[in-house]
Amino acid sequence: MSRPARVVIDLNAARANLARVRTLAPRSRVVAIIKADAYGHGLTRMARAFADADAFGVACLEEAVALRRAGVGKRIILLEGVFDAEELSLVRQLRLDTMVHCPEQVAMLEQAPAGPPVPVWLKIDTGMHRLGVDPAQASALWQRLDECHAVADPIRLVTHFANANARGDASVERQLAVFADSTGAMSGERCIANSAGIIAVPRARAEWVRPGLMLYGVSPFADTVAVQEGLQPVMTVRSALIAVKPVRRGESVGYGCTWACPEDMPIGVVAIGYGDGYPRHCESGTPMLVNGMRAALIGRPSMDMLIVDLRNVPQARVGDPVVLWGEGLPVEEVARHAGTIPYELLCSVRVRARFEVIGEVTASPDPGTLDWEELSEPVDNGIV
Ligand SMILES: *Cc1c(COP(=O)(O)O)cnc(C)c1O
Repeated sequence: MSRPARVVIDLNAARANLARVRTLAPRSRVVAIIKADAYGHGLTRMARAFADADAFGVACLEEAVALRRAGVGKRIILLEGVFDAEELSLVRQLRLDTMVHCPEQVAMLEQAPAGPPVPVWLKIDTGMHRLGVDPAQASALWQRLDECHAVADPIRLVTHFANANARGDASVERQLAVFADSTGAMSGERCIANSAGIIAVPRARAEWVRPGLMLYGVSPFADTVAVQEGLQPVMTVRSALIAVKPVRRGESVGYGCTWACPEDMPIGVVAIGYGDGYPRHCESGTPMLVNGMRAALIGRPSMDMLIVDLRNVPQARVGDPVVLWGEGLPVEEVARHAGTIPYELLCSVRVRARFEVIGEVTASPDPGTLDWEELSEPVDNGIV
C-alpha cells in the first residue's frame, strides 16, 4: 500500500469555470492567471485546461519559459514585467508580453538594442500602491512608450483592485475614477478586473479581464462559497485513515497537548500534514469529511499526519477516505479555520502529495510557430 495522500485536479471543473467567466464577461478577452504553479494546480497542466483562454498571466520569466517549453504558443503576459534589462532579450525571443509598472522599466525599453518590438501593458497604480505608475505620470510615460522603438503598438492599459473582494467597497469606485481620469486621453484596450471584479463590478469588465481564483473554482468573497458563484472546485485534497482508536476522557491528543478528549471517544489518524501543505495553523474544529461525513480536526496538525474526532463517524475504519478540502467541503471554509485565505491553501499544496487528474487533457494547446531548438541554448545558459 502506498501513502494515500492525493491532490485530485478536475480539469472538467476548470473548463466549466472558464466558461463561467465567459458568461459573466462575454465581450471581454480572458487572461487566465496561472502564476504560482497555477495556484498550486500545476502550471502546464492548467495551461492545457485553459486552452480556450486568450492569454496567460504569469509572475515571472521562469514560468513563461516553462510554458513555451511545453509548447504553449499563446500570448503570455509577465504580470510584474522584467526584473532587469537582460530579461528583455528573452522576452523578445520567447515572444512574451510584458507589464510596465515603473519608470525604470520604461528606461530599460528605451535603452534596449534594436530588435523586435515587445507588446506592453502599462500598469497604473490607482490606489493599491503595490505595482503601477503614478497616475500623474501615466500620460508622460505612455508618450515615451509610444515613441519607443522597442515597444509594439498598441499599448494596453491596466490597473488592479485592492479590495474588490469586499463587495461594494468604496475603494473600487475610487480606483475606477482615478483610472478613467489618468487614461482618458489614451487609446488602447483596458484590463482591470480580477475574479472579484469580474463577478461584482460589471463596469470593470473591460476589453480584457484577469481571472485567477475563480478559474480554480473558489469564491473570492468571504461571504460565499464556490457553488453560490456558479463555480466548481478544481482541487480536492484527500487521504485516508491509517489508525483508529478509542481514547479516554481527559487524555490529550497530538503535539503540545492542545486538545483533551471531553469524554471516552474514538479518534482517527489521517495520513496528511503540513509537510503536504495542510496548514499547521488550522484550529481544532476545522472540518474534514470522513466517509463523506463531517468530522473535526483535533490537536495540532503534524508534518505527515493529523488527528480527527470520530464521534460523528463511529463506524469509521482504517483505510476509509478523508477529504481535507475540495469536493463536498469548500476550501473557503477550511481557510477561515486556518486564519488565512483560500489562495494560500491552494498555493501551499506540495507535489509530495501525488496528483491525480480527472478529465481529458486536450492535446498541446496551440504549438504556435515557435522553434524551440532555436531558443533552447540561451534559455539553458540563463534562466532555468
Ligand atoms: C493574481 C492576479 C490576478 C488574479 O487575481 P484573482 O483574485 O486570483 O482573480 C489578476 N491580476 C493581477 C495583476 C494579479 O497579480
